[in-house]
Amino acid sequence: MQKPMKVCILGGGTAGWMTASALSNKYKGLGVEITLIESDQIGTVGVGEATLPHIRFFNETLGIDERTFMKETEATFKLGIEFCDWGALGDRYIHPFGDYGVPLHGMDFHQLWLRLKNHGTVTRLDDYSYPIIAAEQGRFQIPSGDVNTIGSNFGYAYQFDSSLYAKFLRRYGEQNGVIRIEGKVVVTALNPSTGGVESVTLENGKQIQADLYIDCSGFRGVLIEQALETGYDDWSEWLPCNRAVAAPCEARGQLLPFTRATARQAGWQWRIPLQHRTGNGYVYWNEFISDDEATHQLMSTLEGPALADPKQLFFKTGRRKKFWNKNVVSIGLSGGFLEPLESTSIHLIQEGITTLVELFPSEGIHPLDIEEYNERMGLNFERVRDFLLLHYIATQRDDSDMWRYFRNMTLPDSLQEKLDAWMRRGYVLQYEIGVFLPPSWVAVMLGQNLVPTAYDPRADAIAQEALQGQLDQIKSQTLQAVHATPEQSEFLQRYGAASQTRPLMAS
Ligand SMILES: Cc1cc2nc3c(=O)[nH]c(=O)nc-3n(C[C@H](O)[C@H](O)[C@H](O)COP(=O)(O)OP(=O)(O)OC[C@H]3O[C@@H](n4cnc5c(N)ncnc54)[C@H](O)[C@@H]3O)c2cc1C
Repeated sequence: MQKPMKVCILGGGTAGWMTASALSNKYKGLGVEITLIESDQIGTVGVGEATLPHIRFFNETLGIDERTFMKETEATFKLGIEFCDWGALGDRYIHPFGDYGVPLHGMDFHQLWLRLKNHGTVTRLDDYSYPIIAAEQGRFQIPSGDVNTIGSNFGYAYQFDSSLYAKFLRRYGEQNGVIRIEGKVVVTALNPSTGGVESVTLENGKQIQADLYIDCSGFRGVLIEQALETGYDDWSEWLPCNRAVAAPCEARGQLLPFTRATARQAGWQWRIPLQHRTGNGYVYWNEFISDDEATHQLMSTLEGPALADPKQLFFKTGRRKKFWNKNVVSIGLSGGFLEPLESTSIHLIQEGITTLVELFPSEGIHPLDIEEYNERMGLNFERVRDFLLLHYIATQRDDSDMWRYFRNMTLPDSLQEKLDAWMRRGYVLQYEIGVFLPPSWVAVMLGQNLVPTAYDPRADAIAQEALQGQLDQIKSQTLQAVHATPEQSEFLQRYGAASQTRPLMAS
């Protein structure tokens, strides 16, 4: 009989338990032994509450029941992110999970809208988006299966308690045969001929040996950096925010199905509504604000009493030079970090896992697989970086040193090309790899007042009156569909996804 392949996951945060769950699901009964080491003494980063729609497919692949998952993680539904004060002070827009309007005349909907906008006969683009109007009114329902209805044309994600999600997945992983070891890794031995990791030793002397190591040890990067010295590409030049302070508080008001990101003078503040509390944090650049001042600004703007002391976090934006190096794959914060402005970290964990599953080295580690993995993950990170940077540079603000810094910045070529194509005629360059599709770019660019100088000339071939009639109809159908949608709190109860621990906020 063939020897089982041994996989050792170091770390039991969101990254560690997502990886363990997925691998145990995919390789159960296929001769793969999975051990996960985590240290209660070290703990987890303790933030990471807002997600992207793709996480639904991750849970579905594991066979997780949505209602159970939502109850156990105090989750709410998320239709997008509201950005306040980014383009100019007083501006607000929602980046929705879904398309605007419906496809018409073989063209992107926003091109037709741009044409009518020139005639002054349309309202904001947001009025043609079901998820935006539903989010603004605090309403939610699962997308309809009927693709001919307006209420089918969107996606949704979750806002959840990340520590409860890790616990939830731990139960899943252990039931699937993952062996969990509590302890702190203090020594990593390298193999003298391959240079890869040979074994790790815990504080109590226990030694663990594996064929493949997955480093989910968080910012420490215990294996990928401390042991293998892989190196880090520092992206602070483009995304210089380097600290955050976070504090949960009691929830107030209507349970809203979206995350809010409010721009501040030296960074931005998040608000994430969960069933049992609201998560808050201020991400900032310490060059322009002190830790005390950032903490004060956060704590003085909470909507209800704080439920914990503020927690300080330090980070450097960037990515590991190689995500996969020798026999170590870094997933999660050990692989890199991009600020949580668009809730992308958990998604990048998911990308890391999906790519690893596709290239899983059951037959031994091959350099071509490593190359492919690093190439794909590198592009994923780079594209997210550009999208985040777009929020900072598409601004008319100049009321603080931080905003002036961004106004005078030289952009990465990849982002500059994208902006040029947009400004010329409202076209969004498309990628093969990268999480954000054209509607997301349209949302942020128009939301932050980057209006193209021209639109697709084919839009002029359509009779103005007919086009106007079509857009008016979509707008009124969108509004009607939203009016028929329940408030999120009512939907959670009805759907059976409301946590039993605390009553939901009344609207
Ligand atoms: C301010 C901030 C806000 C964020 N918000 C979001 C968000 O809204 N959405 C989103 O998608 N992501 C967000 N993230 C990112 C998200 O928190 C992480 O991607 C996610 O939690 C995964 O973390 P991790 O598992 O890689 O690391 P961690 O949670 O730090 O876990 C590391 C694990 O490794 C273990 N460990 C470390 N060293 C050792 C050792 N020597 N021996 C044994 N065990 C060890 C620890 O005990 C722990 O179990 C945010 C991050 C920050 C900093």
